[in-house]
Amino acid sequence: MAGIMVIGGGIAGTATALALHKAGFEVTVHEAHPDTGEDIGAFLTLASNGMRALAQIDAAEPVAGLGFPISRMNVIDETGTELAAVPLGEPDHPLTRYRCLRRAELGAALQHELRRRGIPIRHAARLTALREDETGATVEFADGSSATGELVVGADGLRSTVRSQLDPAAPGPEYAGQRVFYGYTTAAVPVDGEPDRITMVRGSGAAFGYLVSPAAETYWFARVPGPAATAEEIAGTTPEQWREHLLPLLRPDRTPAADIVAATDERLMVTNALHLAPGTRWQGRRTVLIGDAAHAASPATGQGASMALEDAVVLAKALRDADTTASALDCYELHRRPRVEQNITVSAQLTASRTRPPGSSGPQAQDSARPASRVDDELIRLLDWDTPLPGSGRDA
Ligand SMILES: Cc1cc2nc3c(=O)[nH]c(=O)nc-3n(C[C@H](O)[C@H](O)[C@H](O)COP(=O)(O)OP(=O)(O)OC[C@H]3O[C@@H](n4cnc5c(N)ncnc54)[C@H](O)[C@@H]3O)c2cc1C
Repeated sequence: MAGIMVIGGGIAGTATALALHKAGFEVTVHEAHPDTGEDIGAFLTLASNGMRALAQIDAAEPVAGLGFPISRMNVIDETGTELAAVPLGEPDHPLTRYRCLRRAELGAALQHELRRRGIPIRHAARLTALREDETGATVEFADGSSATGELVVGADGLRSTVRSQLDPAAPGPEYAGQRVFYGYTTAAVPVDGEPDRITMVRGSGAAFGYLVSPAAETYWFARVPGPAATAEEIAGTTPEQWREHLLPLLRPDRTPAADIVAATDERLMVTNALHLAPGTRWQGRRTVLIGDAAHAASPATGQGASMALEDAVVLAKALRDADTTASALDCYELHRRPRVEQNITVSAQLTASRTRPPGSSGPQAQDSARPASRVDDELIRLLDWDTPLPGSGRDA
């Protein structure tokens, strides 16, 4: 029987394969896409907790060479008045400080790391069916091939097939109430943006955020409450039409948001904010879910990728340290479920409270409560590769 089968070669799947390989397991990644990814140009921020997880599996260095670091966050209101200015994460640490990077670059770097370490990744391998018993699991792919192994790790994202194979009644993703727009512009925009700062705008019609890269490119996003964009609308609306839709929401405010959007050319995209309701079943006898397949949150907290990276480290430690697969999966779930479901809840609250939650808004809310992004001693111990996982049996 051929080791552990990771389904999905996105952020969670590649990081899990790196972690399992480091722990001494034989692992193969099966990815539906024929090449390195289906990126449509999106960017994301990796928080210090995610970078710290990458450091545990010796993958922070290649990622720290991508994109650019962010060390501070400013919050302004619709009049442009500064409400807060806070340091982010571990700003002085070259490997674990926040980073902003393109999703495609991150995916390519992690897949490159797999190949460099000799971990097999099969592309064009779309899982369609899964069977499991006490001793192992068999997976089937759309091309008619199949594979067997001792464990299946479902890292196949928001619309996970592994999740629906595990529990056909499992609810799918729900619309969280906001459309998310994002784009880039290199046009000269009068923004007061320093290269290591993210500015969050509590706008009157949208929550807006922007960063200026060291190459003077402005990266931005807008979260706009309202009905979900339909597939037809997304396919049939041009970037110019989306721009015209967004501008009236941003123009009334005395912030740079409208000028940034007006200067954006065709690199303007839209998607719906989706999440999974807490309570999704994560385990079968020989199957476990990680990343968005298990606990997708709406994007407001900006923690989905970092949570997936934490999952990877904790799952590999659990399998390394526990006596049986079943106890390892229980231990993984025990450590991960409260934290990731809190992230779903906080993100949903930020989303539901539209652009102005009482007393707080956007990522600064994470920095005030007990933020998922805060790297405290408990998290450091949980992620630390050399510290046995509490409750695994090896920690006694
Ligand atoms: C608009 C937006 C902005 C975001 N911004 C941020 C941010 O700033 N910071 C942050 O941390 N997170 C952010 N996120 C969340 C983050 O993108 C996700 O949490 C993260 O990508 C989850 O990684 P994953 O590997 O679990 O899933 P995915 O990245 O979706 O990867 C799943 C992989 O599985 C493959 N797959 C799917 N089905 C199958 C199958 N049947 N068989 C084989 N392979 C399959 C897919 O091709 C894909 O490669 C954002 C999300 C959105 C929508």
